[in-house]
Amino acid sequence: MATIILGGGITGLLAAWHLHGRGVAVEVWEAAEEPGGWVQTLPWPTLDGRPGRFEKGPQGILVSSGSAAERLFKALELPLQSPGKGARWVGKGGRLVPVPAHPAGLLTSGLMTWRTKLRMFLEPFQPVGPAEPEEGLAEFIARRAGKGMAAELLPPMVAGILAAPPECLSVDAIPKLRQWESHGSLFNGIRKSGISHLMVPEGGMGSLPKRLVERLPLVRRNLKAFGLEHLPDGRWKVYGPGHTAEADQVLLALPAFEAANLLGPLAAQSAEALRAIPYTSVKLWHSRHEPLPPYDDGFGFLIHPSEGKPYLGTLVPSWIDKKCAPAGVMQLRSFIGDAQLWGDPDPEAPKDWAWTEGNLRHWIPALGSPSQAKEEISTNAIPRAEKGHRGRVRQAVQGLPKGLDWISNARFGPGVRDVIEGLEAWLANPQP
Ligand SMILES: Cc1cc2nc3c(=O)[nH]c(=O)nc-3n(C[C@H](O)[C@H](O)[C@H](O)COP(=O)(O)OP(=O)(O)OC[C@H]3O[C@@H](n4cnc5c(N)ncnc54)[C@H](O)[C@@H]3O)c2cc1C
Repeated sequence: MATIILGGGITGLLAAWHLHGRGVAVEVWEAAEEPGGWVQTLPWPTLDGRPGRFEKGPQGILVSSGSAAERLFKALELPLQSPGKGARWVGKGGRLVPVPAHPAGLLTSGLMTWRTKLRMFLEPFQPVGPAEPEEGLAEFIARRAGKGMAAELLPPMVAGILAAPPECLSVDAIPKLRQWESHGSLFNGIRKSGISHLMVPEGGMGSLPKRLVERLPLVRRNLKAFGLEHLPDGRWKVYGPGHTAEADQVLLALPAFEAANLLGPLAAQSAEALRAIPYTSVKLWHSRHEPLPPYDDGFGFLIHPSEGKPYLGTLVPSWIDKKCAPAGVMQLRSFIGDAQLWGDPDPEAPKDWAWTEGNLRHWIPALGSPSQAKEEISTNAIPRAEKGHRGRVRQAVQGLPKGLDWISNARFGPGVRDVIEGLEAWLANPQP
């Protein structure tokens, strides 16, 4: 069976790698010069020419012992490095409050009220909720861990992962939650599936797509599919600029809106559902500073959305990936959310470096001026699994003609780990 995979992001490359390993003749079409989609590690030398780098998308990946992600990196012979246990903070009440490394530390933490803490410790005793109807993310967390948790800790965490407020999201925005609950409680689910650690492959996250490409027979670059045709013999023909190809199966490893464009004339129901999946844009500022303890030795901080609007927080890549900047340089990565989504009080203010630096200094007054700062705009970067997402995905997948399927982080979950695990499950039953 011949398969063409449209989209050489991490979903498409991984699907291709799995299928190739099962003896399927597979080729990938990627619109850009460099495969990997959002997973790219790009060079960013210092002003005096010393090597450095930054991540376009994920800063790392969460890996637990025995997980699909661990198996994948082992099979690809790609060593993973852990930055270790670093401090992290949540910006609340005008100051950065440390997040305890262990749940027991929450008891003494100033992050939550006593009432919230007590309710949180009752989580393992809450009954498992029904799978249907689909719950909202905030409602799910309130049901399991209490309204205080949903209001105090959930918003900055979700802003840091999905750049969206939890009130608009479905519980399916973080598929792990329902998987964990199926073990009786979130506490039990996390315990059973093993604690995850943030890991970075040698060479940065971009090493993952690079290694996959090395192991694949055919990845065509700069080839953006613009049309699909169902042939009378049941096969599929794919059209790109100056190139066509035929296959038994076509996998659309594309963002929902791109897949909708290709499906429009062939599968109206699927295209309509895919078009209804919104995407969030973010702006990022990478900056380099003199190291400043304790922030240079930690993961970074997230700001409670009620105080940031739309500044979401800052990570410390030079702690996560020691090779991204030379020794003695602290590299930061600050996230700015979509003004409309966050009810930006001053939407006209340009979110330039001066604005970002002002926000950074509000939380870390001692931060020195940067030696370098670099802006990055990520348009339609993160699928937003709003309430009703499950129905939209179901409608999209069920409406597909035989021989076509749509695979994407908008289907499997927002992170690279979700894609790795989602693809494993999908491979067990690939046809809709
Ligand atoms: C700023 C940011 C930070 C992130 N941080 C994390 C993190 O810390 N941890 C984590 O796990 N995840 C993180 N993610 C999410 C992670 O990057 C995504 O889940 C993952 O990269 C999605 O991969 P994908 O292949 O589904 O989609 P994409 O990466 O969007 O890939 C789709 C590919 O299809 C190509 N394409 C589009 N149209 C066509 C066409 N018509 N024909 C051929 N090719 C086409 C595109 O060029 C692209 O390469 C982050 C994402 C962003 C944007």
